[in-house]
Amino acid sequence: MKSEPLSYICDDNIGPWEIYLAQVDRVTPYLGKLAFWVEDLKRPKRILIVDVPVQMDDGSVAHFEGYRVHHNTFRGPAKGGVRYHQDVTLSEVMALSAWMTIKNAAVGLPYGGGKGGVRVDPRKLSPGEIERLTRRYTSEIGIIIGPDKDIPAPDMGTGAREMAWMMDTYSMNVGRTAPGVVTGKPIAVGGSLGRQDATGRGVFVTAAVAAEKIGLPLEGSRVSLQGFGNVGNAAARIFHDHGAKVVAVSDVTGGIRNDGGIDPYHLGAYVKKMGGVKGYPKAEPIPAAEVLTTPCEILIPAALEKQITEANAWKVQCKIIAEGANGPTTPAADDILAERGILVVPDVIANAGGVTVSYFEWVQDFNSFFWTEDEINARLERLMRQSFEAVWQVAQDKKVSLRTAAYIVAATRVLEARSMLGLYP
Ligand code: NAD
Repeated sequence: MKSEPLSYICDDNIGPWEIYLAQVDRVTPYLGKLAFWVEDLKRPKRILIVDVPVQMDDGSVAHFEGYRVHHNTFRGPAKGGVRYHQDVTLSEVMALSAWMTIKNAAVGLPYGGGKGGVRVDPRKLSPGEIERLTRRYTSEIGIIIGPDKDIPAPDMGTGAREMAWMMDTYSMNVGRTAPGVVTGKPIAVGGSLGRQDATGRGVFVTAAVAAEKIGLPLEGSRVSLQGFGNVGNAAARIFHDHGAKVVAVSDVTGGIRNDGGIDPYHLGAYVKKMGGVKGYPKAEPIPAAEVLTTPCEILIPAALEKQITEANAWKVQCKIIAEGANGPTTPAADDILAERGILVVPDVIANAGGVTVSYFEWVQDFNSFFWTEDEINARLERLMRQSFEAVWQVAQDKKVSLRTAAYIVAATRVLEARSMLGLYP
């Protein structure tokens, strides 16, 4: 695979939205006549900024800023998660919504792209405060969400609990039970079996196919993970179950390493009790950032954007990077990794397992008919493998990275839809 031209961008000065724009620029030369419409990819369709006032437990009222962005709806309703994090910005949510457009198209789901977020540190709020925040945020964005308009799901800082509150709030406001308005819900209210681990499972499936392609046996492969939340925890367990060895893990509390292997089930129980990996007795403490440069075969960033940059891409010591997180690698880092022969399975394919099972959940909710977990996992694996193979083929044919190939597949689908729909009025 030939490396692509070095980026003109200085990593440290750009945000996630600029990273996304640079990724679109890279794919434009491969779009042929569809490049005529490429500006559609560079502009979100609509943006809603909301004030979320919340009564705190001490009686005071705190205001939080919330967003919901529809990046694109050519191929179906907007779809994407809701993030609660203290550093959430509009530009970040715009980028995350655009990556959803690309991701949904890359794996062929009938959705556009959307994303939401609230600038809040949920760890500083009580469960009651989080519930009031979630319900008010849902009401505020209620004018643009709905089962056939925009379907939120969990992202960083949110999970099944928040999705149940979102569903209930929306249902109260529209006067009917509306399970199809959110995915990633608890099973008891229309959630899907397999959704909890779906993103981590998709990371595993795509990394496993990538490993096959480069002749890397999974058995005994060392895996290092940044982030041990929904995505990182599930990915760690599934790799472990398939004979790989988790050697390093970091989260917001710190980093740990044990070259003899870390049992992710045991670590998961520890994190549940202690709130993070810090102090885990069966591994050595290391600085959190070192997890990215620990020698391993498979590196899984599963936390935030812009983690692998010009500054550390030279130091990464792995064969495959499977992007559990959205946007963890900057364009300049992509170039360095390509030069070094490190295979990057890009976020828009690697972490698409979550939205894929979200799609299954949505379909099941509409039909009020639910599949078994084995059926879900088999469908997920089939779709992820097919999507990866299609992207791999484009990468081989055009001699581009898997990221550019995924963008070629996705942008072609989105812009073909645009050209067929035509321009209104
Ligand atoms: P989560 O909130 O469940 O977990 C996030 C993890 O990252 C936690 O372990 C947290 O401690 C850790 N973390 C935060 N800041 C860190 C830092 N500076 N250094 C190291 N670790 C840090 O979130 P999640 O749902 O697992 O999402 C993680 C990533 O995966 C995000 O980029 C998200 O957009 C992406 N993603 C999630 C899903 C999903 O289904 N949940 C789907 C696709 C993509």
